[in-house]
Amino acid sequence: MKVLYNDGHVGEIDDAAEELHVIRHTAAHILAQAIKRLYPEAKFAYGPATENGFYYDVDLGDTKINTEDFSALEAEMKKITKENLKIETFELSRDEAIKLMEERGETYKVEHIGDLDPAERITFYKQGEYIDMCVGPHLLYTKGVKAFKLTGVSGAYWKADKNNKMLTRVNGTAFATKDELEQHLKMLEEAEKRDHRKIGREMELFMMSDFGPGSPFWLPNGMAVRNALTDYWHEMMVKFNYEEVLTPQILSRSLWETSGHWDHYKENMYTTSVDEEDFAIKPMNCPGACLIYKNRPRSYRDLPLKLAEAGLDHRYEMKGALHGLFRVREFTQDDAHIFIRPDQITEQVADASHLITAYYAQFGFPYRVELSTRPENSMGSDEDWERAEQGLKDALESMGIDYVLNEGDGAFYGPKIDFHLTDCLGRSWQCGTIQLDFQLPHNFELEYVDRDGTKKQPIMIHRAGFGSFDRFIGILTEHYEGKFPVWLAPCQVKVLPVSEKSREYAHEVADALQAAGIRVKVDNRDEKIGYKIREARSLDRVPYMLIIGEKEVEAHNISVRDRSNETVQSTLDAFIAKVTKENDERLG
Ligand code: ZN
Repeated sequence: MKVLYNDGHVGEIDDAAEELHVIRHTAAHILAQAIKRLYPEAKFAYGPATENGFYYDVDLGDTKINTEDFSALEAEMKKITKENLKIETFELSRDEAIKLMEERGETYKVEHIGDLDPAERITFYKQGEYIDMCVGPHLLYTKGVKAFKLTGVSGAYWKADKNNKMLTRVNGTAFATKDELEQHLKMLEEAEKRDHRKIGREMELFMMSDFGPGSPFWLPNGMAVRNALTDYWHEMMVKFNYEEVLTPQILSRSLWETSGHWDHYKENMYTTSVDEEDFAIKPMNCPGACLIYKNRPRSYRDLPLKLAEAGLDHRYEMKGALHGLFRVREFTQDDAHIFIRPDQITEQVADASHLITAYYAQFGFPYRVELSTRPENSMGSDEDWERAEQGLKDALESMGIDYVLNEGDGAFYGPKIDFHLTDCLGRSWQCGTIQLDFQLPHNFELEYVDRDGTKKQPIMIHRAGFGSFDRFIGILTEHYEGKFPVWLAPCQVKVLPVSEKSREYAHEVADALQAAGIRVKVDNRDEKIGYKIREARSLDRVPYMLIIGEKEVEAHNISVRDRSNETVQSTLDAFIAKVTKENDERLG
């Protein structure tokens, strides 16, 4: 694909992701041009291409753009592509650039120029009457944008600062072909059907309240899912030889100063004062784990020390960024801190990778792995880093895991491995992480007595598999569309008596299931059986319904309907054995 760079030369790109980026960026300009034609008073802020499309932030004064206006806007965009305007680029000096933008009333662009490094070149792109300050590259003609769609409108602060003016963000997406756009829109539609906030309401999994923005209230059904997941987590912790700990919520300022959070993470922390001393509510569990390590002298024989913590953390997030269980202010991490000797890096990173890949296999998630290495301004010696990075590579290679190398993308305190799982809609979620850390052991002066009697510093590994229980349940809800496997389903069996005459037997059946440890409910209402079945299937999404009529009472058996809507007659004992087996499947 040919593109126009901002020095005026035409180049060729062949990477599909780069191509898509240029198409979307050009689509953003076409959107802005269409807005300007329909709303001449519009002033433009930023309009980048994004991972899933593009947007433009615009100040419309008192005017509003709603989704009802999209068809007119899209028609104008279509017209601009049909006009097939030639896209050109030019450079201006700083003063000329400011003058041009002032003439055109683009006050945000003028402010943006003021923020730029004086040494930076200021370039523009032009198509027809539309001019935008931009570094490009762009397509050569507007007709190159063949498939686009506006997808939403929201508010966004100028420069993402809540003290600034709220602008209108018009979101859209664009693809190289109409087919790809269709496919994407279908995926969005499917994602909307699977939205965990909607399913969470229907299944009564969790609720949110303005009294605690970003802080989920877990309802009985959601708590059942969460407990099932936590039970599974406990089993895996035992299987992988972790020891479980729990550290306090509120810890003193001096601890967070030692860890570095007070200086570098304070804007995300909730702080309070107790007895005139500063405290913070923990945003992470690591410093607490360091204190546990220090609780007694450690020898090389004690390592690895594998401490797991289902740690409740609080982190401030902007209210506008909060999103169901995906972006919250309060969440429980499936955290672990593994303290090791340098010679244990490969073995322990492999062990943590085994755990994380076992999780994903349990839920049927494919995944990809990224290894991030030493950035500039990192701490630790060359030798430390070399050994750590080699250890991570060796661990992944020993397991036959392919990975992408992100050179220089590690944290300043150590290299890391990230696991990105792919859900059934092909969306990618970063959940698992294995992070080596030289810094905290140094800050907390952690040590162990080595074989030769000398004191050495351990390396710390931060490890999470789900990421957080909360977000992971959100992902699982969408992945399964609420139709959780038996072991995770909040209600595993719903018993539906057909009439008053079968009610007593229905309760007998339910009691037997409950005694066998199966999560069961009886629909006692005087509703028609057809209505009860529909609700159990489409709202509760239960794996099994037991339909109990007079026939079943008489034969003293049950009629079992599963999610495929197949109905079979069964004895109660055989059904209990079946569900119990499926409930234990996670142990496999
Ligand atoms: Zn940690």
